[in-house]
Amino acid sequence: MTPAQIVAQLKKFGIPFKEYKDWRTHNRNHKGKWGPVHGLMVHHTGSDAKDQRQLLYAGRSDLPGPLCHFGLAQDGTIHLVGWGRANHAGLGDDDVLDAVIAEKDIPQHNESNTDGNSRFYGVEIWYNGSHPMADAQYETLRLLAAAICDFHDWDEHSVIGHGEWGSPGKWDPGHKPGSMMDMGKVRADIKATMTKKPAEDKPEKPSKPVPAPTPKPGTPAFPGAYYFRPGAKNQYVTMLGRQLVKKGYGKFYRVGPGPQWTAVDRAAVKAFQKAQGWTGSDADGYPGPQTWKRLFG
Ligand SMILES: [Zn+2]
Repeated sequence: MTPAQIVAQLKKFGIPFKEYKDWRTHNRNHKGKWGPVHGLMVHHTGSDAKDQRQLLYAGRSDLPGPLCHFGLAQDGTIHLVGWGRANHAGLGDDDVLDAVIAEKDIPQHNESNTDGNSRFYGVEIWYNGSHPMADAQYETLRLLAAAICDFHDWDEHSVIGHGEWGSPGKWDPGHKPGSMMDMGKVRADIKATMTKKPAEDKPEKPSKPVPAPTPKPGTPAFPGAYYFRPGAKNQYVTMLGRQLVKKGYGKFYRVGPGPQWTAVDRAAVKAFQKAQGWTGSDADGYPGPQTWKRLFG
């Protein structure tokens, strides 16, 4: 995929995303091959920090960035940090790669003889692996995998955990200390996601209804990008719409505001963001913590 193609897929599947710096041309193609790509590798970062963009973009002194293509934040937003060869997969087992290419069950790895960085897209999920990832992260992971497989016409066997690849000592993505998630279950969930149509093609229903937490009185905390996406329906959307009306953006709404996230909500948010002097991905019509703060603060 080209950068434009992945952006189009993210939009098609209703995945919230932000672009970081010059991600479209940020890579390690000068250090080795990139492609042909055969799958998506899933990682945890090992940290619960709330903003891990710069680390994933720039890397560390012993491991130069980009460290993946997709950073997946706790609120379910994808942060695009690089495109091309990235330092995420290391060496793994050629038998695993063969299974991924053949769309077969992943064998137990027993050697580290194959460069994975040229063969896999990588998603680094922002959590430490010793506890489960957030629900919003898991939801986005499934949609991301579905979006990538949809483009390449792959099935769920093209999605593996780093711990399945054969890099020594790796157990990501984890769910408790030292223990990788059941990737067979993850793949089954991805398969279920793939058999559904993308959000924008569907009637106004989320792919998996997740009850929104009850808002607390007072200045509300930003609930997470997950609640404002194509197909989303929850009380936060209503709350956002009502506040936009209060702030003078009522002209966008001929009916509502209501709980269903619509193009009208997005247009109103976008107008509000632009009125703050924001541009680019800061004014994409999807509210983030800054928009929320400015709107309710
Ligand atoms: Zn990893």
